[in-house]
Amino acid sequence: MFKHDRISAIRSELEAIAGRGNVRTDEAEILMYSYDSGMARARPEVVINFTSADQVAPAVKVLYGAGIPFLPRLAGTNLSGGTIPLKGGAILNLSRLKKIRQIDTAARLALVEPGVVNLELQKALEPFGFFYAPDPSSQKVSTIGGNIGENAGGPLCLKYGVTSDNVEKLEVVTPEGEVKLWSYRDRGPDLMSVMIGSEGTLGIVIRAWLKILPLPSQLRTASAAFPSLESAMEAVTRIIGAGILPRALEAMDKVSMDAALGKANAFPEGTEAVLIIELDGSDKAAIDTELETVRGICAANDCATFKVAGDEAERTLLWAARKGAYPAMARLAPDVLVEDGVVPRPLLPEALKETRAIISKYKLTAGLLFHAGDGNLHPNIIFDRRDIQEVKRVKKAGYEILKSCINLGGTISGEHGIGVEKRVAMNWLYGRAELDFFQGIKRAFDPAGLANPDKILPVATELAAGEPGSKAFGSASAGREASSVFSGRSALSPSARGILDELRLRSAAGTLTAVTGLGTRLKPEHIHKIKGAENTRQLKLRPLSGRSEIDKGNLTARAEAGLSFEDFGRQLREAGLYIDLPLLKGSVGGLIVSKICPDLRGHLLGLEVALADGTLLELGGKTVKNVAGYDAIRLFCGSLGTYGVILAATFALSAGQAPAKPRFEENPDWDVFEPDTIHRRLKKEFDPRNLLNPWVYKGPL
Ligand SMILES: Cc1cc2nc3c(=O)[nH]c(=O)nc-3n(C[C@H](O)[C@H](O)[C@H](O)COP(=O)(O)OP(=O)(O)OC[C@H]3O[C@@H](n4cnc5c(N)ncnc54)[C@H](O)[C@@H]3O)c2cc1C
Repeated sequence: MFKHDRISAIRSELEAIAGRGNVRTDEAEILMYSYDSGMARARPEVVINFTSADQVAPAVKVLYGAGIPFLPRLAGTNLSGGTIPLKGGAILNLSRLKKIRQIDTAARLALVEPGVVNLELQKALEPFGFFYAPDPSSQKVSTIGGNIGENAGGPLCLKYGVTSDNVEKLEVVTPEGEVKLWSYRDRGPDLMSVMIGSEGTLGIVIRAWLKILPLPSQLRTASAAFPSLESAMEAVTRIIGAGILPRALEAMDKVSMDAALGKANAFPEGTEAVLIIELDGSDKAAIDTELETVRGICAANDCATFKVAGDEAERTLLWAARKGAYPAMARLAPDVLVEDGVVPRPLLPEALKETRAIISKYKLTAGLLFHAGDGNLHPNIIFDRRDIQEVKRVKKAGYEILKSCINLGGTISGEHGIGVEKRVAMNWLYGRAELDFFQGIKRAFDPAGLANPDKILPVATELAAGEPGSKAFGSASAGREASSVFSGRSALSPSARGILDELRLRSAAGTLTAVTGLGTRLKPEHIHKIKGAENTRQLKLRPLSGRSEIDKGNLTARAEAGLSFEDFGRQLREAGLYIDLPLLKGSVGGLIVSKICPDLRGHLLGLEVALADGTLLELGGKTVKNVAGYDAIRLFCGSLGTYGVILAATFALSAGQAPAKPRFEENPDWDVFEPDTIHRRLKKEFDPRNLLNPWVYKGPL
């Protein structure tokens, strides 16, 4: 049966759920949903306009039963083709689900529907003296559902984290039409976090509990003009190295400034880069001291003018210039490609230099905007899509910029997602092992492959095209030895290699393994008493405790999994650094998999993991933002050693002295966990013979 016929066959069922006039197949509606803010185009066969969140699950069940692909769509402002229906099927239009259901200032939570526009939520929170931290530049139109779909970020994410760090709980419709309630605090692997940034490929968020924060009483906003991008970036590195964490640290180059400000550009002659620095807090004296330190650092790095906004009007003007830079560039030409790459922050000057060289090599014009504090750059390349040659040059330039980020130990997207437009680049970033792992996640959530198909992961033809050494892979990335990216990471230690070899042997022999750390919670001497663990052999991770590798400039450190968290903390202290967490007892790996402290996930940037068959996965790295692929790092939080063996982890750090923390009260039920169907399917994907800690997943997978 053709897809159209299949839709006719279920139309009455869909109409019974969503209402008669809300199931649309007319040309105007189909055309309207054939494009988004990216460059790809494709037509859906039906658009379903929902008026109640409770209509979504039954409609998805009907589509699933009929084998019709579907995708959730909100404002369509994503920049990677995420809402383009590549295989036709149904658009699930959630934009009418825009009720703010509850603002609970005591619990610091807001319960919202996915269609709530980000700025509308901010406006609703303001009278209560609260705000929601993620503030994408598109916040006037983009929605909470879309922000969750893309794991959106914005200027304030430097201090307060991206969307994933600001969500407490989600109500999700799975691709089979089941309704689930997931929080990152749930026992077991963190399914909520995997949903965030999954671009509608793993399910549909129908309600979200968002973390809200009290508005700071003190706010200082300053602009600093520099004679070069390099001097501006040096100032950024020094500000953060001084232990100051501004709530925003944004930058723009001269091209963006000229576009945004035009004749109103009052920065001195010779200004090549401007920083916008915003500090917040509740202690006036402390903020003023920080502001003076920032002023001093900027002056020491050739800053020509440092201006503090005198009032709200001046502050708004400054932000209007930053947030208006994209639309201003867009006015210069019919089309703009907004690229989105991330590198470890100290390498941003090099990334910018390479980006400029690429732009000039392809004879293009671009304004450079960047979340300087996050190492996240956005070249806005202007062009005219009617000029085919120019389009080709733009695409090539975009890919070369991404490759240059990868070569600097960075990633291909910090906030705009992969969608269809960066699928091929996933091969340059990851090896086959990681891509297979992501495919496993997709199959576990969406066995029929109907939820936003062909997004995020390279399709078969692209896999071949992206093999290292192939033409498409390109010279920029050639010669990388590892299966994966994030080259900032060091080689595996002999102990880690030993564990990989041991796992391969055990896998060949079908040996059941009990993974043991320091014995803080899972006591090696008690393992034989656990039901289902009688025939296991221990795999001791204690030897995995080499000295941590601290990158002071980037404020990151990599620790092996067997290192005690206390020793890790001591090593950081010696370097004048810390992880902003309570004092936790146990090994680095043990703390991650036991999820004793769910907030630990917010500090994790990278993981090296051995699967049960000895396959090495390298996930994430030294960048503070990364939305390329599923959030597999957080999936390992709470995995209780069942999905793979963590070998090493990379953490984001803070500079200075750790603030005193109250004693951490541990949940004694850390290992009480009832796997969900999706947990079981994930286990089957990663460890089909249930070799690792087999007692956790009892019964058939
Ligand atoms: C001018 C401009 C500036 C921008 N600035 C930023 C910025 O500063 N930071 C940033 O991060 N992004 C930015 N973006 C990109 C874009 O605005 C964000 O990705 C935004 O989060 C998308 O929201 P939306 O409502 O438009 O979602 P859509 O584009 O409609 O959807 C985005 C993705 O989420 C999925 N999705 C939608 N609803 C759901 C749901 N309920 N459950 C699960 N998945 C869902 C969709 O299938 C799609 O894959 C910018 C875009 C533009 C055009």
